[in-house]
Amino acid sequence: MTTLPNDISAVIEADRAHVWHHLLQHKALETSDPRIIVKGDGMRVWDAGGREYLDAVSGGVWTVNVGYGRTSIADAVRDQLVELNYFAGSAGSIPAAKFAQKLISKMPGLARVYFANSGSEANEKVFKMVRQISAQHYGGGKSKILFRERDYHGTTLGTLAACGQPQRAAHYGPFPDGFVEVPHCLEYRAQWEGQDYGRRAADAIEEVILREGPDTVGLLCLEPVTAGGGVIVPPAGYWDRVQEICKKYNVLLHIDEVVCGMGRTGEWFGYQNFGIKPDFVTMAKGVASGYAAIACTVTTNAVFEKFKTAEDPLGYFRDISTFGGCTAGPAAALENLRIIEEEGLLENTRAMGARLMGNLRDLMARHSVIGDVRGCGLFAGAELVTDRTTKAPLDEATCARIVAETAARGVMIGVTNRSLPGFNNTLCLSPALIATCADIDAITDAMDGALSEVCG
Ligand code: PLP
Repeated sequence: MTTLPNDISAVIEADRAHVWHHLLQHKALETSDPRIIVKGDGMRVWDAGGREYLDAVSGGVWTVNVGYGRTSIADAVRDQLVELNYFAGSAGSIPAAKFAQKLISKMPGLARVYFANSGSEANEKVFKMVRQISAQHYGGGKSKILFRERDYHGTTLGTLAACGQPQRAAHYGPFPDGFVEVPHCLEYRAQWEGQDYGRRAADAIEEVILREGPDTVGLLCLEPVTAGGGVIVPPAGYWDRVQEICKKYNVLLHIDEVVCGMGRTGEWFGYQNFGIKPDFVTMAKGVASGYAAIACTVTTNAVFEKFKTAEDPLGYFRDISTFGGCTAGPAAALENLRIIEEEGLLENTRAMGARLMGNLRDLMARHSVIGDVRGCGLFAGAELVTDRTTKAPLDEATCARIVAETAARGVMIGVTNRSLPGFNNTLCLSPALIATCADIDAITDAMDGALSEVCG
């Protein structure tokens, strides 16, 4: 139990009257209370009804990597705020410099960090950098940006132009030109026959580059493990071939680590599991575990140097993010990184991730509704189907009931977003990197009960 504020009913009414919640059909709140979370501690959160949950989704959207209630992060932020809360990012700050240095020490081959506030914004920066490189170094060539079916990169018009989940982008166009989709690489939903699926899926990217014209393509933007699109770990052989193709056609490789970054997959960054050498890496959610808003666009010296054409008055990156100058973000991020390092959370993530996958495989053996389980570190998905042979997706309402029944057993899990018709059927798990064996078992036990209750 947690102690609720005395005015909690007034808070609920204020919320109902005035707050517009993210990703919510508010019609639902005409017959039920809004969900209000009042406290977090370690792996657990409490709602306005005083109910306790084991949070298996790190704040709902893969964010609170080091868990709730970290007073050392709060202290670091407080100390920094009283010293200097803000100055525009055209100047430096002590926490920004220290965090950038520490971050780069975890990312061999990369050199520069550009600070912003959200994952969408960090990705937009990459797209703008690529467009500027195109204008100033290729006479307008190499401006096209490739993105992958099922991947998601944000909510702004630019990032929605690069959205591989059609319902997310529906009704928000027209979008900027020059964004081109490449096929997904989910072998469970294979688009091609035969062996060596990873290589085949990557070859499909080459086909798109050749169709568009290699001189027109500047960037390939990919999630290392697709998150909301279904927790998709690319098959063996995929990444080697992707890198070969990028090199061959001089296409810069952008890895969107907004979800996977900062330990989620058992390495500092998801791409480090696969031997990828990216030109751009973007990150947000786990960078400060939600203790402050911060996002980073990280790139190589080779890219950075392209923005020093001093003879051209427009030859530098003419971009600003007002709150990219907030010092709370890097102060929180520095402490967040120290915690991951000193508490051995990468090692824990690998060990607990293996346990989670083992438990999910056991669940799959008992529940025929689970068609596939996938994951990397403490980032896992269980795809639900009505029939393992036809792989027909389990309907959205039943998936939602499983999530609700799991919550009724005290564990919050997620389901892939409602943006892919017929494909919003993957249960998502991303507990904080501090999870113990008991936590992992409690998560899958609750799922077991919910699956039995709903699916028999
Ligand atoms: N990239 C990926 C892979 C994401 O999953 C998200 C958000 O879920 C974003 C980018 C956008 O991040 P933000 O919501 O911070 O703008």
